Amino acid sequence: MTNKVRVRFAPSPTGGLHLGGVRTVLFNYLFAKKHGGDFILRIEDTDQTRFVPGAEEYILNCLKWCGLNPDEGTEAGGEYGPYRQSERKDIYKKFADQLVSEGKAYYAFDTPEELEEKRAEIPNFQYGHAFRHQLRNSLTLSKDEVHRLLDEGTPYVIRINMPSDETISFTDLIRGFVSFDTMLVDDKVLLKADGMPTYHLAVVVDDFLMKITHAFRGEEWLPSAPVHLMLWKFLGWEDAMPQWAHLPLILKPDGNGKLSKRDGARLGFPVYAMNWADPSNGEVTPGFREMGFLPEAFINLLAMLGWNDGTDQEIFSIDELIEKFSLERVNHSGAKFDFEKAKWFNAEWIKKVKAEHLRDEVARVLSTNNIEVADSGKLLQIIDLVKDRCTLLTDFVSQAGYFFQGPASYDLDAVKPKWNDQKEGFFFEFITELEKLEAFEAVELEALFKKLVADKGLKIGDVMLPLRIMLVGGKFGPAVFDIASLVGKEETVSRIQKALVAFK
Ligand code: GLU
Repeated sequence: MTNKVRVRFAPSPTGGLHLGGVRTVLFNYLFAKKHGGDFILRIEDTDQTRFVPGAEEYILNCLKWCGLNPDEGTEAGGEYGPYRQSERKDIYKKFADQLVSEGKAYYAFDTPEELEEKRAEIPNFQYGHAFRHQLRNSLTLSKDEVHRLLDEGTPYVIRINMPSDETISFTDLIRGFVSFDTMLVDDKVLLKADGMPTYHLAVVVDDFLMKITHAFRGEEWLPSAPVHLMLWKFLGWEDAMPQWAHLPLILKPDGNGKLSKRDGARLGFPVYAMNWADPSNGEVTPGFREMGFLPEAFINLLAMLGWNDGTDQEIFSIDELIEKFSLERVNHSGAKFDFEKAKWFNAEWIKKVKAEHLRDEVARVLSTNNIEVADSGKLLQIIDLVKDRCTLLTDFVSQAGYFFQGPASYDLDAVKPKWNDQKEGFFFEFITELEKLEAFEAVELEALFKKLVADKGLKIGDVMLPLRIMLVGGKFGPAVFDIASLVGKEETVSRIQKALVAFK
């Protein structure tokens, strides 16, 4: 019998959620759903110096927005909790002590100052096999001395006793065979002076206790793998070790290194899933959501950063991704981030989804721009009319806002040079005719307009653009009679009247 697939996303809640983090969530989620498994959210908050208020809640909100909800975790609960590492302190201590008693780890009493001195004295100093015998730890001090120090409450850390002469290896699901020479790995701290585990100990203990079968994480964690492999071995859990996949990095647009928050600021695009307000200084780093991305598009574009299904297909729904996703098709090399392409995905998704699906978000975007929508039926019609012209949800402000508010200004350069009394007269008559109309449908409006144009001996091109500019302010928007019909008779007449004054 094979074990049920159990994967985890294990963020440290220290700030905004980078798109690379969301892609890690996505690949975990897709893999779990594809194999009928569980997706677990574990909060790795054992580094108390990096605690950031609100960061955990923010991560949960990002996952909710993306629709990548955990089956188990801090909020969803589950039988392997607690899912917040700071609440599991005693569990880790027990295993750290076990490792010490078996000689696989040791107490180190060196003060930060002593270690500083060593670093100054020895170039490229590493606390490991080469120097551990010159330092103050339970490998160099007598048993009595160690007991005395512990009894006196001397601060200590527990370090792994890394062998110096082994080669350890594993098969990464993306990268294949990977091996490490333990000689090059230092004696990482497992338990800190405050009694909290480090990431290295906690990740291994929790992946074991939570019965994780597959662990996918960013490539930046690959250098930590030898420590983790050794811990799985030292704790006697080798047979239960999850299969690892280290996901390729998301690179800067020019391919030169990992995409960072600073690149986003420099190049004017978001790198976080949602806006993140740093509680220490209030500084807001923009997110894809607030920038006007649909979660479906965000998920889709992240899936394509490093994966494809082997065909030219680029637009995938989450259900299709679940069906088609496989780690074999994840690239080995990093994926360059291209914001123009990201926007293309969003435009495609805005076209693809129904107006109903966009309604609430569009109403919210309009409302943040002081445009309140009273008639949501009308909003649906408007969305249908303009959605193919919108790349970002925020584009609905310029593409749909004029249905609710008359233009604040006009593109006069496009009208004035050719404006004359004849055209003005035409519009006065057009108003009179409009007043007489019962129904205010686009087809009738167009017929009326064209008839009047012919009667007046004008050309349609002479008055069509001015009418558009009267209604929306500029040379944009869908069919002009659709706009007039939707804004209604009274408003159309009033906009023409106002514009006639401005065009004089
Ligand atoms: N806590 C680590 C992080 O913040 C998790 C790495 C892992 O998944 O093992 O990314």
